[in-house]
Amino acid sequence: MKHFDVIVVGGGHAGCEAAHVSARCGATTALVTMRKSDIGVLSCNPAIGGLGKGHLVREIDALDGLMGRVADHAGIQFRLLNRRKGPAVQGPRAQVDRALYQKKMYDEIVQQPNLDVIEAEVTDLLVENGSIRGVEVAGSEVLIASHVVLTTGTFLRGRIHIGNKTYSAGRMGNRASTRLAERIDELNLPLGRLKTGTPPRLDGRTIDWAKLDQQPGDEYPTFFSFLTKGTTAPQVSCGITHTNRKTHDIIEANLHQSALYGGQIEGVGPRYCPSIEDKVIRFAEKSSHQVFLEPEGLDDHTVYPNGISTSLPEEVQTAYVTSIVGLENVTILQPGYAIEYDFVDPRALRPSLNLKSVRGLYLAGQINGTTGYEEAAAQGLVAGLNAARAAQGLDPSVFSRSSSYIGVMIDDLTLRGVSEPYRMFTSRAEFRLSLRADNADQRLTPYGVELGIVSQDRREFFNAKNLELEAGRAILTRTGYSAQEAKSAGITVAQDGVRRTLYQLLTFQNVDFSQIEALEPDVRQISETIREQLKRDAIYASYEERQRKQVELLQKEENIRIPSDLDYGSIAGLSNELRQKLDFVRPETLSSASRIDGMTPAALTLILARIKKTAPRQSA
Ligand code: FAD
Repeated sequence: MKHFDVIVVGGGHAGCEAAHVSARCGATTALVTMRKSDIGVLSCNPAIGGLGKGHLVREIDALDGLMGRVADHAGIQFRLLNRRKGPAVQGPRAQVDRALYQKKMYDEIVQQPNLDVIEAEVTDLLVENGSIRGVEVAGSEVLIASHVVLTTGTFLRGRIHIGNKTYSAGRMGNRASTRLAERIDELNLPLGRLKTGTPPRLDGRTIDWAKLDQQPGDEYPTFFSFLTKGTTAPQVSCGITHTNRKTHDIIEANLHQSALYGGQIEGVGPRYCPSIEDKVIRFAEKSSHQVFLEPEGLDDHTVYPNGISTSLPEEVQTAYVTSIVGLENVTILQPGYAIEYDFVDPRALRPSLNLKSVRGLYLAGQINGTTGYEEAAAQGLVAGLNAARAAQGLDPSVFSRSSSYIGVMIDDLTLRGVSEPYRMFTSRAEFRLSLRADNADQRLTPYGVELGIVSQDRREFFNAKNLELEAGRAILTRTGYSAQEAKSAGITVAQDGVRRTLYQLLTFQNVDFSQIEALEPDVRQISETIREQLKRDAIYASYEERQRKQVELLQKEENIRIPSDLDYGSIAGLSNELRQKLDFVRPETLSSASRIDGMTPAALTLILARIKKTAPRQSA
């Protein structure tokens, strides 16, 4: 019988981050996954990042996780989305070579000390007196660990639908995890059913590229990892085409055959990633939808048509796809499909991602009702970190909403639960002006160092960057300039008698470093990367001050802990509905309680009064 501190089940995006961070913590870790060749598989589109999601990848990287570095290595097209908007809502995104991504992720995992990869299906969880003791793998071998992280994605009772054809599978080409799902039933966890879909894959050699517009990547790529210096793989363009009236007519005429509309699927799908059937019905006024033709790799002819995921029968898929310009003679390599799967209501979890009802059992990724590689990876990092810390007798590490998108997501999930597959957006973060992708290292790397999960290379790189930032800031704040002096450098500001530092002048629109160089030659010592960071910091400084005050207020609240055995039933004045919700969620802090759906200031005051009456104030 093999013994580990932590066992991670599943080698997808959540599992890889969970296992890697657990091993980085120094815990002996096993990653048990159905097939070694599945480590780091991108089940759907070959792309990482995007709006909100790119922030998560930067944060994972700031904590020395894998996803950012691996995506940069495999990136074949980099684009910064929302470039015309402010830096707070810009999202780095990369189209990646599927095979390169998988290979790099596999290499990172197998090279990590303290980490064993075991190829096997986990069929049972060993639970004794409410605590996890290990797992059983097919063939009845038992692996022992006091901490287990489940990251089984869409595999729990997964069911694929293509038209009226339906069969059990974890995703195309993989069997479902049915025995484990049955075991989870016995733990009496609150389960639900969700669905997601993927488009047909096309043979790029049969696409008429000459008819299509091309979308190249950015001239100067924005990478995910703070450590990446340049591209590794050759860069490519994507093609752009559009659906048309004929496409929509074919889809409408066959809606009754769609698994999504034919009633075969009971699960709820991602509103923000609609199928083409959804789009044609929900946006009936639109006669066309954009389709990005994304190459899946440099040595692979497969093309991913982004925007037309479907669950229509194969012959209907062929008919509508070939009605699209450039795709008239296309060969479909793999049909699109929808998949339905079990998920666990994430309100059954603590912010550490440990189940409230089973000590030592953690859940991360799509099993918690999220969708997306990035969301899964970020949860994996939190669950793996906390499983390892608990195994080492350390307190859980909890990420707050005010310091990271990771904190926003975990808080949303564990407090509010999900009614549809959850994906990250910048609008979910109330502190988004300070939670920028560009400053993720400033926000999180020091915390990662404190937790002991950051490599020496990154520490040194971060310290050197900080010194440069400090030196740059010192130059920019050294002297104040009058409006007249600013004018001599071509900068117009109010004649109000105020002397402004260069840092303050940089907050004005259209003021750049070339102008302020004329006022202070030492500015030339500041490198391009540091200039970009300082300019963003300067622009957001005044907003951040306002936000900082809000954050302080929130943190004061966050610090008030609610005793885990608080009897909500005995608090007079609380509505029955709120009592039930509080009983179910069992928020750990007053701040968490304040975000429960339907919570009122009056009810919070009642809870606070009870806490003060029963216990001296404690800090989190
Ligand atoms: P996965 O990446 O699914 O990994 C699960 C891992 O667990 C696999 O390696 C599997 O082998 C292993 N495993 C399962 N059961 C066991 C067991 N019993 N024992 C051992 N190992 C086990 N995301 C988007 O953002 N947009 C989309 O449009 C989108 N569409 C999708 C369409 C489809 C058809 C699918 C399948 C997924 C889609 N996704 C999409 C979601 C994205 O792929 C997932 O969110 C992400 O991969 C989840 O990561 P994960 O680590 O939770 O699970």
